[in-house]
Amino acid sequence: MTARMLDGRALAGRLERSLQQEVETFAAMFGRRPRLVVVLVGDMAASASYVKSKSLAAARVGIDSDVVPVAATASTADLVALVKALASEKHGPADGILVQLPLPPHVDTVAVLDAVPPDRDVDGFHPENAGLLSQGRPRFIPCTAAGVQRMLIDAEIPTAGKHVVIVGRSDIVGKPLALLLASRPPVGCPPDGTGGCDASVTICHSRSGDLGHLTRQADILVAAVGRPGLITADMVRKGAAVIDVGINRVEGKLVGDVDYGPVSEVAGWISPVPGGVGPMTVAMLMSNTLLAAEIRRRP
Ligand code: NAP
Repeated sequence: MTARMLDGRALAGRLERSLQQEVETFAAMFGRRPRLVVVLVGDMAASASYVKSKSLAAARVGIDSDVVPVAATASTADLVALVKALASEKHGPADGILVQLPLPPHVDTVAVLDAVPPDRDVDGFHPENAGLLSQGRPRFIPCTAAGVQRMLIDAEIPTAGKHVVIVGRSDIVGKPLALLLASRPPVGCPPDGTGGCDASVTICHSRSGDLGHLTRQADILVAAVGRPGLITADMVRKGAAVIDVGINRVEGKLVGDVDYGPVSEVAGWISPVPGGVGPMTVAMLMSNTLLAAEIRRRP
């Protein structure tokens, strides 16, 4: 079997084109565009490249965006004060405020993320937004989780009654994705409940023991770890959908967590790296930014 490719780049392009029209409608109604402010701390090349992708996507869909560069030496207190100042609109309206991760090790990341007002938290990392998602009434769904769900819906890969195995339990990917796919519809999925919810989900991590024993049970296998080649062909059930969230740099090349060539001989569907989940994450950020702007204008 040769797996069908889940082309995240193409789907993100389609989503962006439809968002562009919604942004124009917003701009016509309110006389201004949604605005995203990204705080970029330090000079890590990977972070700078992610922020550039976000700025370019914002320009494509017609969202105003600004990057606020901060020295790597900034303290937790400096960053909390900066986020609060951005939220106070002294620098103009900021519908969405995003702090690019990771922050330098001396910074208390949780304290900085908690300073982002929950109604502008377009990454969906604030505890209020995490809590709303866990209760099945999300406001901002973390972008990568939302992007994976959207890929499954778009490819008409059924989730209801299926077994999803997610490798990785981070607050930004694994946990929100598990909540989303196990939700009762409609949470993120179409109102007719045609996909993206009602799965049975297993979350794996570094202490899971026999990982292959668990991953082989998956109808849908998601790798969100950050270890190149962790998921090998013998860990995948024939015909399963394999979603590779991992981004790793190996000898200057971007690769995921999945051993792509051999796994694509076993899987029914597979997402590539690059060109899979990454562009979807950025598209969902644009969607969350428009939603933030709309929420702030509701009476
Ligand atoms: P993270 O916070 O470091 O979490 C990694 C998870 O993987 C942890 O739960 C860890 O287990 C688990 N893990 C580590 N080694 C393992 C092993 N040998 N077997 C099973 N589980 C193992 O990472 P993250 O922020 O979720 O990101 C994960 C990957 O996704 C990274 O490569 C990141 O760059 C990428 N990413 C991509 C996108 C995108 O848009 N495509 C967005 C976000 C992240 P413990 O909890 O036990 O430590």
